[in-house]
Amino acid sequence: MCDVVIVGAGLAGAVSARKLAEMQKKVLVLEKRDTIAGNAYDCLDENGVRIHVYGPHIFHTNHQGVYEFLCRFCNMVPYEHRVLGRIDSKLVPIPFNFQSLEILLPEKADDLKQRLLTAFPNTSKISILTLLDHSDKELKKLGEFIFEKVFVHYTAKQWGIPISEVDTSVINRVPVVLGYDDRYFQDTYQCMPENGYTELIREMLNHPNITVELSCDATKRLCVNESNQILFDGNTWEKPVIYTGAIDELFSYRYGSLPYRSLRFSFESFEQDYFQAAAVVNYPNEEDFTRITEFKHFTGLRPEGSTTIVKEYPLMYDKTNPEADIPYYPIDQLENKKLYRRYLEDVECCSQLYLCGRLAEYRYYNMDAVVESALRLVEKIKKG
Ligand code: FAD
Ligand code: UDP
Repeated sequence: MCDVVIVGAGLAGAVSARKLAEMQKKVLVLEKRDTIAGNAYDCLDENGVRIHVYGPHIFHTNHQGVYEFLCRFCNMVPYEHRVLGRIDSKLVPIPFNFQSLEILLPEKADDLKQRLLTAFPNTSKISILTLLDHSDKELKKLGEFIFEKVFVHYTAKQWGIPISEVDTSVINRVPVVLGYDDRYFQDTYQCMPENGYTELIREMLNHPNITVELSCDATKRLCVNESNQILFDGNTWEKPVIYTGAIDELFSYRYGSLPYRSLRFSFESFEQDYFQAAAVVNYPNEEDFTRITEFKHFTGLRPEGSTTIVKEYPLMYDKTNPEADIPYYPIDQLENKKLYRRYLEDVECCSQLYLCGRLAEYRYYNMDAVVESALRLVEKIKKG
């Protein structure tokens, strides 16, 4: 017997579960995988390196409330993420900054830096799209150079479509920096949970009012019938359900499948302290993969003498292919949003069905936005 059913033990599910449990609600969390933490799942590999199984996760936020909430469940260790890009056989900081400019265009660098500072006073970063459109011919040419070397091919690889078809909000996640700040993120809080995300989420779920069932595909126990009523174990269910999985799956794909981008991860270990100079090296151009992550940079030199890396190969999501059946990224395009909205209309007819998280809300959320969304949702449920 429970008061709320939550589908998914990722961040969205765990944050909602904890907040509701603290309001004396009995919460049942159903998780398809045999692990908690969703795509933030991490563990130690055979060499004792903490690896992020579903891709590198770095916590960053400007939201003090979100940071403080997570700090209740772990010790957060300050960590500033730095990324290099291999461009024309050289390693340069990404986001593209003044140092990248000096390495790749040494003869023009002084003039271009001056032009940038004059054109964009009191600004520390700009969108690449602003440069592309600039009236100063030299800055426009610089924009075209950066666009071609950093964005065009990486984006085509990552999304499987030309950059012109990718939503500008996606490209604008990575700015052009007007200075020497070489951090990947500029947020106030940048950190990693000392013992990993899985431990953080385990601690969050560790509450007497929370029961977690692993290896349980909720769509086998819970469904929405044609009258948009929720059935749970065959009976009408009128209490709240928080759903954090893919929305098209919950509705048995009644309007068709929503597109997602998937990834193949290729892990390799080496008997040496470090493999590369930064936690992440992006390969925008020649290679089939987009980036290599070396996990030890997240934790310092721990352990000595061995290191593990992962290469990311983007691919189209296909629920029938076990090599590509994890929906990692919603694809932010107009027609997909339209299809999502059709599902949303049905959700609105199901009283007590609440959506939360990257898949259920079909949004390119970072972890902090997911936590914020879950905290907001619980407040909404509380108000009734
Ligand atoms: P998920 O983590 O996907 O959790 C959903 C859970 O629901 C999963 O465990 C799934 O198995 C379960 N589920 C789904 N369907 C069912 C079902 N039918 N029955 C039972 N269970 C079900 N964010 C950052 O802030 N910083 C980063 O550096 C960062 N890096 C990323 C790198 C990659 C490669 C990717 C793909 C994402 C990254 N993110 C990052 C985003 C981050 O992963 C998400 O914002 C966050 O983990 C989403 O949490 P969630 O709970 O919404 O979804
Ligand atoms: N991007 C790019 N080149 C890079 C890094 C990022 O073109 O070297 C673009 C690409 O379209 C990518 C988007 O910026 O999908 C967002 O990058 P981010 O690093 O935020 O992606 P994530 O870590 O979420 O995969």
